[in-house]
Amino acid sequence: MLRNPVNRTIEEIIIISSAITMAVSIIPFAIYRYLNGQYVAALFEILSVAIMCVIGVYVWKTRNTRVMSIATSVFMLVGLVVFNYILSTSILFWIYPIIMSVYFLNSLKVSVLLVTPAAIALLPVLIQEKTLIEVISIVVTLIICQLFGFILSSKIRQQYTMMESLVNQDGLTGALNRRAFDERVHFIHSFSIRHKKKQESVSSIILFDIDNFKEINDKHGHQEGDQILINLTKLFKISIRGSDQFYRYGGEEFVVIVNGADTFKATALAEKLRKILEGSQISNETRVTASFGVAELQTFESPTRWINRADEAMYRAKRAGKNKVCIANSETKFPQESKLNTVQA
Ligand code: GH3
Ligand code: MG
Ligand code: MG
Repeated sequence: MLRNPVNRTIEEIIIISSAITMAVSIIPFAIYRYLNGQYVAALFEILSVAIMCVIGVYVWKTRNTRVMSIATSVFMLVGLVVFNYILSTSILFWIYPIIMSVYFLNSLKVSVLLVTPAAIALLPVLIQEKTLIEVISIVVTLIICQLFGFILSSKIRQQYTMMESLVNQDGLTGALNRRAFDERVHFIHSFSIRHKKKQESVSSIILFDIDNFKEINDKHGHQEGDQILINLTKLFKISIRGSDQFYRYGGEEFVVIVNGADTFKATALAEKLRKILEGSQISNETRVTASFGVAELQTFESPTRWINRADEAMYRAKRAGKNKVCIANSETKFPQESKLNTVQA
């Protein structure tokens, strides 16, 4: 995901800044209403500030905006409707920034599904409090605002997706690139620290390097080398599960992040990939093989150490004769050890 100079996504910024804005701007109103005997409104306002603060702190700490985007939108829209009834539409103008925030936070479909019922729910109080001409102007401006929110949000999302794939994709093979890999590894690392004991915090990487690639380039040309990299990517992308990610680590080195897999499962996948490549015909000119290193993320180890262990294992596979799978240092015994092409530390 793309981040800005403060290293937060757009969604995180909207949610956190909404929480801060609400806390700063609503608390004085709550005090004012309390002093004026409007206890229900004051209570609702304090509750709103508390809920927004909980959402803001949650997003600040976990960086998880998926559920909170909908929660924040629902909360803002419900608050808007309730307060406009309590305060006889005196805070109606809040509807415009809230609609824009909802469009920025959610997909188009979700935004329309959230905004439309809120707008309909406001109609009775509008009809009661405003003149016909005012109601008509509010409805028209709301439709225009909704339309702009829709257009702006779809344009921004379109460009964002395009930019994200440009920034995260390797130009030659279309695989995810080193930048995307580094970001993902850091995310998995922080996730595993937060969820130490859970099965979903287990992750392994399979790092592999094509054998004798320089020789292939020299013998069959650089173009054939490029084609091998492209074909290998296509082949491996369809050989892994949708939940696993395939990256070009650099040159003729690639990595697969196997989510939820321990060393045992990741080694089985590495062995499967090794065999698929060995038996494939990704080049008409030559047989292509690779050497694999497998490492499961250990508790408390840094991302760099995790990658280094996989790298060391891969080099061990090279030294052991290439076209092999090696497992990074671990105390557990693995059944694959006995197989011809798999070597353990
Ligand atoms: P080993 O089995 O020990 O890995 O030997 P190797 O020849 O594969 O490794 P070496 O590091 O000596 O050579 C890697 C080669 O990969 C050299 C470089 O020109 C080539 N290479 C790196 N990126 C690309 C690329 O994008 N396209 C092509 N065609 N070749 C590339
Ligand atoms: Mg190589
Ligand atoms: Mg290499």
